Amino acid sequence: MRPRMLASRAATLETRMTPIDLRSDTVTKPTDAMRAAMARAEVGDDVFGEDPTVNRLQATVAELLGKEAGLFVPSGTMANQVCLGTLTRPGDEVVCDAAAHCISFEGGGLAALWGVQPRAVAAPRGILDPADVEAALRPVADHHPRTRVVEIENTHNRGGGAVYPLARVRELSALAARHGLDLYMDGARLWNACAATGTSPAEYAAGATLVSVCLSKGLGAPVGSVLCGSRDHVAAARRLRKRLGGGMRQAGILAAAGLHALEHHRARLTEDHENARRLGQLVAALPGARLLHPIDTNLVFAVFEGQKAAELTRRFAEAGVLGLPEGSRPDLVRFITHLDVSRSDIEEAGRRLARVMGG
Ligand SMILES: *Cc1c(COP(=O)(O)O)cnc(C)c1O
Repeated sequence: MRPRMLASRAATLETRMTPIDLRSDTVTKPTDAMRAAMARAEVGDDVFGEDPTVNRLQATVAELLGKEAGLFVPSGTMANQVCLGTLTRPGDEVVCDAAAHCISFEGGGLAALWGVQPRAVAAPRGILDPADVEAALRPVADHHPRTRVVEIENTHNRGGGAVYPLARVRELSALAARHGLDLYMDGARLWNACAATGTSPAEYAAGATLVSVCLSKGLGAPVGSVLCGSRDHVAAARRLRKRLGGGMRQAGILAAAGLHALEHHRARLTEDHENARRLGQLVAALPGARLLHPIDTNLVFAVFEGQKAAELTRRFAEAGVLGLPEGSRPDLVRFITHLDVSRSDIEEAGRRLARVMGG
């Protein structure tokens, strides 16, 4: 072991510093008020459609997104897979950007679950260009897979939290409609896109056949996503949720956390964005570091030219700051701000990182 690692490990042991966890916005813990709301929740068997709190959550999110109906599912991954499974049949093609979550981080679900293949389109920061999408659509002929869905991700995870301009979403939905295709929006962080732009969730969702949102990321709930669309599409999605084992019983305990989060943690997402911008300044000032993307929301992607992100994040962790090697290039480290980190945590994270980098 090199002397520097020994020294920083000793410092960690001495001060027993609490790590500042910037690996993901999924690491938040339910607040006391959220736990109280969960404890109070009225519940029933949701597989029978009898959980009043789940029903209220589904109706609340559907209304926010301007859709007829909603469905509570255990994760964003299940939301994506259920939605894409609802809109396709085996042999179909889904057009999405080449770094989309649904083809990067979901265990090959499209292929394994539905027999569907992606038509991956290169897109800067994951934001699709309608001309590229149009060029990727298959001609209708016996030879070709059937293009069925255009999938967009807002905000874009591997794009460093990039936000879709509303006009772009509208162009893509018009294009999909012109070709008789469905638009699906993976809105795991749609709340962040709304907070960053002032666009309402319903405006963003208007052109999408189905849209899903996470409760367990920026909003700080422990579990869950909600997918929304027409009554018929949601009924079909409900069958697939059951097939995947996602039918939960007294899930109102979890839905109560989501309702609490929607009411109390949505407006404050702008704080996470301000904290991310501040963290970006601090990181960009480190020797050898630069930001890969401008900071639109709560994701900070920093490259450390010539260094290995896996090794660097180990050293950052020893100094009390947790980040993740992002994985799309070897020198890219990802930090994400969230409900459980304050502005003073960000300032402290900056000091700790500077100690590691000798800046
Ligand atoms: C996190 C994420 C998901 C999946 O959510 P899980 O709840 O972790 O399964 C889907 N899409 C995007 C864009 C995400 O960032």
